[in-house]
Amino acid sequence: MKDAAPNMDFKRADRIANITFSQIAQISEAAAQMRAQGQDVLALATGEPDFATPAHVCDAATAAMAAGQTRYTPTAGTPALRDAVAERAGVDRDNVLISTGAKQVLSNLFLASLDPGDEVICPTPCWTSYPDIIRFAGGVVREICCGADQGYKITAAQLEAAITPRTRWVLLNSPSNPTGAMYSQSEIQALGAVLRRHPHVWIASDEIYQHIAYATFTSVRDALPDLVGRTVVINGVSKAYSMTGWRIGWAVGPQAAILAMRDVQGQSTSGACSIAQAAACAALLGNQALLAERAAIFRNRRDRVVSAINATPLLSCTVPDGAFYVFASCQATLGRVTPTGDRIETDVDFCRFVLADQGLALVPGSAFSLQDHFRLSYACSDADLTDGMARLRRATEKLIPPAA
Ligand code: PMP
Repeated sequence: MKDAAPNMDFKRADRIANITFSQIAQISEAAAQMRAQGQDVLALATGEPDFATPAHVCDAATAAMAAGQTRYTPTAGTPALRDAVAERAGVDRDNVLISTGAKQVLSNLFLASLDPGDEVICPTPCWTSYPDIIRFAGGVVREICCGADQGYKITAAQLEAAITPRTRWVLLNSPSNPTGAMYSQSEIQALGAVLRRHPHVWIASDEIYQHIAYATFTSVRDALPDLVGRTVVINGVSKAYSMTGWRIGWAVGPQAAILAMRDVQGQSTSGACSIAQAAACAALLGNQALLAERAAIFRNRRDRVVSAINATPLLSCTVPDGAFYVFASCQATLGRVTPTGDRIETDVDFCRFVLADQGLALVPGSAFSLQDHFRLSYACSDADLTDGMARLRRATEKLIPPAA
């Protein structure tokens, strides 16, 4: 037996005491393990487009390597990619920072701006990583529950009530992971009216699903032009161009914020991968028709999933406006009993049962801070979607009411 790395006591820093390994990653890994053991598992759990990275993007990466673009890049990103992003956003290069995925943009942002006790208003349900990134950076998460009755969106009144002298940011995500909810121009403007009264609060707007939208998408920067001086937009190529593995994201914002984030990045990962930046440039400057083509495919799948879920007894969902997730209620399954006699008490129990009974991996809503729900990703083939809907129905139909 190998014993090169005996497991001594490892003291985790207090800073990460409340940080968990991503629940989504846990589920994906559990599903992969079941599959490795020969089980028939279908994972509709991850937030990753099933399309291939476009060929012209891969070609640009190959060309970059052949041209020797294999060295360190400037910390803030290659001039070519910063300019491509700046051009799209209608800003200067100095307003753009390139990072290793939008996830790093978020961690740069909060590490660069939060002092211990500073608060970030986080409408929930929200992407699982937000609360942990904020806590890791020393901040306090102010979760504001935004249920289906309000379209999973924060209202102006809720925002007003959540602001304290310690509030540093309100973190918006439109279209949203996990709900697909998207803020209209007038909804953003209503939030802007509140923020105008509180000049110490800045806006972090995660717009990574911008191009996967089934209604008109409005950027916070466009809806609130007078607040761009305290707005940082987070975006990237992962979702729009099926480039999750290339790890390129960016921030667009005031130069002082960009420089602070650059300084954090400079002492962690430095400039993002040179080859991936060349590829991202090709994505931004190349054929954009694929964005609408892919959004149309996603829309079609959304419609199929929404009708299948609403036709399944005990399950229901609203119609998402963007991203590639359906966030559905499993509340009516709670209290029911599985064929092996286990009682479904929570959304986690429901997802565990569906995985065990039908090999279908979903993510419980509590991972996104809203219980009694689950998230289903339809970034998968049509065949898998048909299969997934059938598995979901078969599992749910097996749940029986408790004996009276
Ligand atoms: N923001 C949201 C809302 C996301 O869903 C994700 C990916 N799951 C990210 C950011 C991170 O994207 P990236 O791959 O660019 O790090």
